[in-house]
Amino acid sequence: MFQPDLLKGKRILVTGGGTGLGQSMGRRFLELGAELVICGRRTEVLDTTAAEFRKDIPGAVVETHGVDVRVADAVEAMMDRIWQTRPLDILVNNAAGQILAQTHKLSTRAIDSVLNIVLHGSAYCTVAAGRRWIDAGLRDRVVMSILTVSSLMGAPFTVPSAMAKAGVLAMTKSLAVEWGPKGIRTCAIVPGPFPTPGAWERLMPAARGGNEQLVKTIPLRRVGEHSELANLAAFLVSDGAAYINGDAVVIDGGKMLQSGGGGASTNAMLDWSDEQWAAIRTRK
Ligand code: NAP
Repeated sequence: MFQPDLLKGKRILVTGGGTGLGQSMGRRFLELGAELVICGRRTEVLDTTAAEFRKDIPGAVVETHGVDVRVADAVEAMMDRIWQTRPLDILVNNAAGQILAQTHKLSTRAIDSVLNIVLHGSAYCTVAAGRRWIDAGLRDRVVMSILTVSSLMGAPFTVPSAMAKAGVLAMTKSLAVEWGPKGIRTCAIVPGPFPTPGAWERLMPAARGGNEQLVKTIPLRRVGEHSELANLAAFLVSDGAAYINGDAVVIDGGKMLQSGGGGASTNAMLDWSDEQWAAIRTRK
């Protein structure tokens, strides 16, 4: 699909790059010649992923940073360490947390936890990278954020995530205008359903019919493949997409159009009994 050196010379940070979609994007970036930096809270997960990349992709340059993006000082310290080798070219805000719960039963800690990772974490990383780029007069830089359909349409039972991702979309659009003249462009991906071992298993329990019920809500009658999202990500951060600024691209097999909203996969839960909610609360 792409020239093998599409991302040659690009140094890319993917937050939450040790698992799931972040891992798949990172792998694709490396295959296309980029230098990869991944961060997350669990250093052993990052190290395992980095080792796999080095084994599978000859010459892969991968750097890992154990960091909690909720902590602004830790994000700044990570950026200092990253810059010591060489400035980033591209930041991908991918790290996220998600809670499936009735909103009136959410604790303030639960609300803060999701908002702090997604909204504050994305802002800390974006500002930390952007300030360094602008202060040094570095141009041709990209900030790409991974959103959710709920950021566009809302969704019941995942309200803190929808709120936080909507905020990241507002940041994407605002900075497209503010930072565009400085040679920094922004963009976002709005993924539909892409199975991952992480959030996916918590959000798509068998109690909700698993994948079988879900695919009926998708016009293409299947969930997404990681390679499809990774290729879109590679294109959007590449110089081939240099005129795309401030947009959010939906990749969901048409699900949003069929369902009329991000909540379509959680709307069925409007009929859930207290027992069903209790069961999901105790799921590990
Ligand atoms: P995932 O595997 O659970 O990935 C989340 C990553 O974020 C993990 O690597 C996690 O690592 C990291 N993370 C969480 N909290 C963090 C923190 N405080 N500081 C630093 N890193 C943190 O989930 P995923 O499905 O791949 O999701 C990736 C992105 O795609 C998310 O933005 C998600 O909202 C979005 N998305 C996914 C789907 C889907 O169908 N999978 C659909 C729509 C949107 P640690 O736990 O080690 O910190």
